[in-house]
Amino acid sequence: MDDLPTLKTPAVAEPARSGLGVAALQRDIVDNLICLQGRYPEIATPHDWYMALSFAVRDRMMARRVATTHAYVASDAKVACYLSAEFLIGPQLGNNLINLGIESNVRDALQALGLDLDALVAIEEEPGLGNGGLGRLAACYLDSLSTLEIPAIGYGIRYEFGIFDQEIKDGWQVEVTDKWLQKGNPWEILRPDVAFYVNFGGRTESWTDEQGRYCVRWIPAYTVKGVAVDTPTPGFRVNTCNTLRLWKSEAVESFDLQDFNAGDYYEAVHEKVRSETLSKVLYPNDEPEAGKRLRLAQQYFFVSCSLQDMLRLLALKGEPISRFADMFTAQLNDTHPSIAVAELMRLLIDERNVEWDDAWTITRNALAYTNHTLLPEALETWSLPLFQDVLPRLLEIIYEINSRFLDEVRQRFPGDHARLARMSLIDEHGAKRVRMANLATVGSHAVNGVAALHTRLLEQTVLHDFAELWPEKFRNVTNGVTPRRFMMLSNPKLSVLLDETIGEGWATDLTKLRKLEAYADDPAFLDRWRAVKQANKQALAARIKSETGIVVDPTALFDIQVKRIHEYKRQHLNALYIITLYLRLRRDPNLSMTPRCFVFGGKAAPGYWMAKLIIRLINGIAEVVNNDPTVNGRLKVVFFPDFNIKNAHTIYPAADLSEQISTAGKEASGTGNMKFMMNGALTIGTLDGANVEIREEAGEENFFLFGLTESEVERVRREGYHPDNYANSNDELREALDLVASGHFSRGDANMFRPLVDNLRWSDPFLVLADYVSYVARQEDVSHAWQDTKRWTRMSIMNTARSGKFSSDRAIGEYCEHIWNIRPVKIALE
Ligand SMILES: *Cc1c(COP(=O)(O)O)cnc(C)c1O
Repeated sequence: MDDLPTLKTPAVAEPARSGLGVAALQRDIVDNLICLQGRYPEIATPHDWYMALSFAVRDRMMARRVATTHAYVASDAKVACYLSAEFLIGPQLGNNLINLGIESNVRDALQALGLDLDALVAIEEEPGLGNGGLGRLAACYLDSLSTLEIPAIGYGIRYEFGIFDQEIKDGWQVEVTDKWLQKGNPWEILRPDVAFYVNFGGRTESWTDEQGRYCVRWIPAYTVKGVAVDTPTPGFRVNTCNTLRLWKSEAVESFDLQDFNAGDYYEAVHEKVRSETLSKVLYPNDEPEAGKRLRLAQQYFFVSCSLQDMLRLLALKGEPISRFADMFTAQLNDTHPSIAVAELMRLLIDERNVEWDDAWTITRNALAYTNHTLLPEALETWSLPLFQDVLPRLLEIIYEINSRFLDEVRQRFPGDHARLARMSLIDEHGAKRVRMANLATVGSHAVNGVAALHTRLLEQTVLHDFAELWPEKFRNVTNGVTPRRFMMLSNPKLSVLLDETIGEGWATDLTKLRKLEAYADDPAFLDRWRAVKQANKQALAARIKSETGIVVDPTALFDIQVKRIHEYKRQHLNALYIITLYLRLRRDPNLSMTPRCFVFGGKAAPGYWMAKLIIRLINGIAEVVNNDPTVNGRLKVVFFPDFNIKNAHTIYPAADLSEQISTAGKEASGTGNMKFMMNGALTIGTLDGANVEIREEAGEENFFLFGLTESEVERVRREGYHPDNYANSNDELREALDLVASGHFSRGDANMFRPLVDNLRWSDPFLVLADYVSYVARQEDVSHAWQDTKRWTRMSIMNTARSGKFSSDRAIGEYCEHIWNIRPVKIALE
């Protein structure tokens, strides 16, 4: 008995579970260790402590969450519902500590227990419930919605397996299943009481009721239950704590019972497995759509649960159905939730007996659609037979919407059959398909693009006919990112410097960063600025060493491209530049050169062969360049494996140069570009997406611009693009391509990169070769600018100082004012 530990539980006056003082936190952490983990300090693993701490932090959010929900139900304030198939929220612990303002107290409480906060933060498995930019945008918006005290709910899918973990073996990407739930998730709250049924398959029956109304009943082939799993999302230093509500699929109990009674135990279990499959795994494709039946079922599943939940809350608020659009707005994050148009109609007409015209008014007023892509291959369409098979009743409703909509178009543009064919919700060329972007546009009162250039192109190209019909529906809301996670949490040293220089307050009004401009020539400030960047680069260098074994010089220029691997993002253009530098050094070993460390990161969709080959090429170049004595450390190339939010925290703040080099007209906005800018990286980029606005804000003298503009890209294409001509007319480009083709970066295997080189020479759909000369020239300017440390530091400061526009707070403010008509609601704690 003598061995039993004496527990360090200080006696404190502060209440259990809500006290924010050091002693109360320390007591509650130890209590949780015992009561929830069933451990005592001497044998607790770091993970036990992580759980005990997380539960203590979660407790502190619960009173806020309850007060927030209560205020929304009691008030007649409108609630913003953000519908997204992806939420890439990242690790929660560190962010929650910052938003609650208890980081320092928790650090002290842990220290008293002999524990290190940073070590516990590092343990957390992140929920990878998204592919990249689109899912991360939804997460940044949740943070801003709570911080701006906007009544809001995020609705999505609780995937059991999120985006795969990426490992690199022999230079190739290997996908490993993401087991984020294996050790339990302390942040989520299962809500078995909040559950809805969702139908699939089967057939419909129609009849006419006593009042002569046409009625339809859907007789589904099977039904799945959606159960709510809530993640509280506290705002920054406010009482508001909104909810991210993700739906988990389960079997409907009655099915089991029926089959079991019939003696078919196996079939009963099969049913359960089929139902659970729905929310099992995230589709790992970033831009192009897979067109898979399960994917459509996932989309309908979460949309139906979310709309049913909104109707439940409407009733709870004591409001009639006619007030639905006054109480709720649903923002569709891309077309993934666009089935909401037909599903809300179905819920109103079939299940609430609302007349079609009234239902249509409600639906349109309630819904708004954000478009995220101009790439034709990424526009979502579903084959008609598949749609009919999975969602027969929804297809009927889409036909009815379409018929009424096309009547409207016929009246406006009589005799214009081509226009009708283009605007129809059904693509009738070849095998028929349902066009989800058209459905979302017709069923929404507002449609927005995500950067000024993107919105303009949207109006001129993919949605041109719609913009002509309803010009007032269209508007731009340039994306943003949250400075809480991407500055305060991931760049604490910069945050301290900012606090001490311009005062606190910048994190909730990022335009205040402008005050930094006054210090851009202050030598003492420049030194401190450089010291922060240097420390961040050292931290990244250490991570690079431990993840890849590669040793990099933290004083070299850190030139970083991290994002999904995609031909339109042109990681291979960056690679060609590295090869060019390598060839120059081989030709002239004494060449004086700005030392650079090139860092790449990003996942390729498992079925995207060319993207995987690009990863292999980068690793091939790294192997050669990093080990060539001629290079002598002047160039280093790193492929940082498994780019996710957690790794992003160390990568963005360490960048000197941000690579935003997509073909003009292809990247809708980009948000990585904004994270780099806030953290003082300079951008080398094309006039694409939000780069245009970044350059406008930063000033052209603080931005390295290159490449064809969107209209020049179109002109080159129209006039006939022959990439091989570009290769033949530039010696350095030709030599770089030949070196790849020779097998130099594939241990002599001349076949490995043949498809990539041939693609560039003979097709080059993203004009890599057309932009090569301009890119190399601008990179030379970068190298030159780096030599003048003072000038570079000044430009770095200017980038941060002028990044205020790119806060997600600004973006959410615009949605509230122009699209949702929603105002903040202050939350009082008793
Ligand atoms: C910001 C972010 C992205 C989006 O990056 P882009 O450069 O805009 O494509 C993708 N993945 C992660 C993990 C991010 O943090």
